[in-house]
Amino acid sequence: MAAPAPAVAAPKEKKVDCSQVKCVALTFDDGPGQYAGTLLDTLKKYDAKATFFLQGQYVKSRPSYVKRMVKEGHAIGNHGYSHPDFTKSTEAAIRSEIKKTNDEIKKAAGVEPKLLRPPYGLSDLTVQDIAAEFGMPIILWTGGSRDWESRNEEKIKKQTLSVAKGNSIVLMHDWVKQTVDSMPSIIKTLQRSGYHLVTVDDVIKGENLKAGDVFPLPEGWEQ
Ligand SMILES: [Zn+2]
Repeated sequence: MAAPAPAVAAPKEKKVDCSQVKCVALTFDDGPGQYAGTLLDTLKKYDAKATFFLQGQYVKSRPSYVKRMVKEGHAIGNHGYSHPDFTKSTEAAIRSEIKKTNDEIKKAAGVEPKLLRPPYGLSDLTVQDIAAEFGMPIILWTGGSRDWESRNEEKIKKQTLSVAKGNSIVLMHDWVKQTVDSMPSIIKTLQRSGYHLVTVDDVIKGENLKAGDVFPLPEGWEQ
């Protein structure tokens, strides 16, 4: 009897240890945006990973991008279904926003998000309690590209590089065309400076975050 054909080897995942090497986590909010396909092509070309905090309503309308994100090794987080300010929403509405988004992501890509980034990065104790119910820490950012504001490739690149430091979590948006257009240049510059572009999970590994924790803490917060 012929031996069974060997299973196709899974692509080798290079495991990066961000306590040993320089890491940056680029994060893209509000998508999958209309330029997500181009962005995924760029990330693939340069062997860079990213984290996508997705809105449930766009997961529903663009599920194939979500499937591709997961398949290509990117991390997925929950950014609410329709982007309301959670600090001005009822508890029932917050739960529904999170649950509906998790359900759409599961349907699209078969995974359950483990990270929450509330719309606008706004949270309070109620939002933290509900995040804890869902088993998710709340992930904010250490610096922003201000891409939605400038809509200018050169400015996005300059701002992003100025906030990209060891273990930074950088806020960007894949619905801003200039962001997606500037990505090849941003990635090349960061990689030439010795940075590994990794997922948020990689940079928070040493933080021992619990469900409901907020990271990084906004300035002025104590925990
Ligand atoms: Zn957002």
